[in-house]
Amino acid sequence: MGQVGLSLLVSAWPAANPIDTHMTHPSTAKPALSIEFFPPKTPQGVERLRAVRQELYTLNPEFCSVTFGAGGSTQEGTLRAVQDIINEGHVGVAHYSCVGATAATAREHLTRLAAMGVHRIVALRGDLPSGYGSNGEFTYAKDLVAFVVREFPGRFHVEVAAYPETHPQARSYPADLRAFVEKVKAGANSAITQYFFSAQAYFRFVEDVSAHSVHIPIVPGLMPITNSSQLLRFSDACGAEVPRWIRQRLESYGDDQVSIKAFGLEVMTRLCEELQRAGVPGIHFYSLNQSEAILGICDHLGWR
Ligand code: FAD
Repeated sequence: MGQVGLSLLVSAWPAANPIDTHMTHPSTAKPALSIEFFPPKTPQGVERLRAVRQELYTLNPEFCSVTFGAGGSTQEGTLRAVQDIINEGHVGVAHYSCVGATAATAREHLTRLAAMGVHRIVALRGDLPSGYGSNGEFTYAKDLVAFVVREFPGRFHVEVAAYPETHPQARSYPADLRAFVEKVKAGANSAITQYFFSAQAYFRFVEDVSAHSVHIPIVPGLMPITNSSQLLRFSDACGAEVPRWIRQRLESYGDDQVSIKAFGLEVMTRLCEELQRAGVPGIHFYSLNQSEAILGICDHLGWR
């Protein structure tokens, strides 16, 4: 199925890719995997997520991260889920968004993370929901990165967000690229991208970043396709481009979930193969607290 669409994805990435230091080794080895969850709101959700994590641990992820509601709306839930991951013997990574925070609240939160044994964070600006109060003392994620490096030297591995298809609020692609470079120069150790379906957009971004002498690992973030209306809604909100051929195919399936999942599995498997061949430094899956699609993709690729 999907021959036309898939041929667009399976474009030939040069065998000797000349770009970034973290992408110079075309590879067939399984990339390091990481998996992202969001903190559940109910006790049933917590239990369900526990089971989902156990299934996903069979992939031997390098780390599992938990998102943070901007403005601190999920603060305790995030900390609990990260603690659960650590207690289960895995590397728990906490997202932290600085919008609405002050230096004092950020210091307190990071101190709690350090006391829990968290060594790696995803440092974000976030988006404050409307009517949620003031923007706080940090304007951009780079201010948070600089704060973490200054106040907790050597304590955290700092991940930041990257946008191969441009952050939706950015003035332009070059302006967003400059902002990303500043964020790295403030002290970020590695980055995870917003999800995308065009490997070429990712390759171009990595190449453009490396032209600024920035050589940190930039790990592709991938969103399995399982539900078309949800995917289109998320993509509109976060600025991820859903190619026309994927939209058309999803529309053609209507409510036929079986076909949507089969199509999604094929698209994502091919995308992962293309990224793997290029020697990406890892793959980060946005799980939406579900295991089935990720396990399906990884089984197809022999990554379990
Ligand atoms: P920034 O890097 O600060 O960028 C935000 C905008 O400001 C961009 O448009 C950028 O171009 C612009 N900008 C930056 N610096 C400058 C400057 N000096 N001058 C002018 N413009 C500038 N959200 C959550 O709420 N919780 C999460 O847990 C979460 N996890 C995420 C994980 C990943 C991997 C990704 C990719 C996104 C995540 N997000 C999360 C979404 C993120 O918070 C939003 O995309 C948010 O709008 C931007 O956050 P940022 O850290 O990328 O911001």
